[in-house]
Amino acid sequence: MYGAGDVRVETVPNPVIQEPTDAIVRIVAGCICGSDLWPFASKKASEHGARMGHEFVGVVEELGSATSGLSVGDFVIAPFVASDGTCDFCREGLQTSCRHGGHWGGTEDGGQGEFARVPQAAGTLVVVPAGFDEKLIPSLLSLSDVMSTGYHAATKARIEPGQTVTVIGDGAVGLSAVLSARLMGASRIILMGRHEARTDLGREFGATDVVAERGEEGIAKVMQLTNGEGSHIVLEAVGHMPAYEQAYGIVRPGGVISRVGVPQYEDAPVGFGSLFGKNATLTGGPAPVRAYLEPAIQQVLNGEIDPGRVFDRRVAIDEVPAGYAAMDAREALKVMVTF
Ligand SMILES: [Zn+2]
Repeated sequence: MYGAGDVRVETVPNPVIQEPTDAIVRIVAGCICGSDLWPFASKKASEHGARMGHEFVGVVEELGSATSGLSVGDFVIAPFVASDGTCDFCREGLQTSCRHGGHWGGTEDGGQGEFARVPQAAGTLVVVPAGFDEKLIPSLLSLSDVMSTGYHAATKARIEPGQTVTVIGDGAVGLSAVLSARLMGASRIILMGRHEARTDLGREFGATDVVAERGEEGIAKVMQLTNGEGSHIVLEAVGHMPAYEQAYGIVRPGGVISRVGVPQYEDAPVGFGSLFGKNATLTGGPAPVRAYLEPAIQQVLNGEIDPGRVFDRRVAIDEVPAGYAAMDAREALKVMVTF
């Protein structure tokens, strides 16, 4: 990406092993993230393009000498950050804060390309035990970010069976949060979103109510649906200030707001009129995807979840710029890139 609206497909040298802990992965499928749309809308023009993409599944092509647990030919999932799997944060299940972690893209390889050098490969990559299966690609790919991020929102909120959960945002993460709330036994799931095709999928994922209204109207609608009490749990999957305002407007006293939409703000209300007066808890952050992958892969392999349904468009590498435009115009919910 060279700047706002300027995505180009270019040929670069194939990656090579640089550290003994590296692996080279041939990417089978990657995707465009909602968070890639922020730079697509606002990135300053530059002479040097940034490599893009942080979600992928692929096949191990080559291994450094310190990559135990992996074999050439393994079908693997990469979380959206790299992690060593051994430091104190990794052992605590917070791989996003790994002391030796790394990010995709920029000057490093990204997930929207044919190959990637994977740092800390033994800690980062997770082998799909069933091996390569074409029809499972969308769901396995969704675990590298969106599904695991929705699940993280639900996990941080500590949803208990029988609770009312409201999800703000009908993007791929919001829909994944709906699916996760259902898995955790929420009895009522209110989805706030106004794109009908998306909220329809949200209903199939487990939403019991859809609120298309926003702002004060949206708050009033949720309060009305919950007999004036509000929602035990609010999962915020947007990141804009109005979404946060909706969240504290609808959270039930004693409830939890869990945010996984990357906040586009630093300053936000936390005082009496927002969180304090309600004894509300605010939590959330970037999902430590790596902590959730093994059980989530099993759920996909068992057919328990089908989160890959969020992908509604598939493009080849040459069509990636068009894929960005389609997601930016909200013509596509989530675009998969296949190689
Ligand atoms: Zn670590």
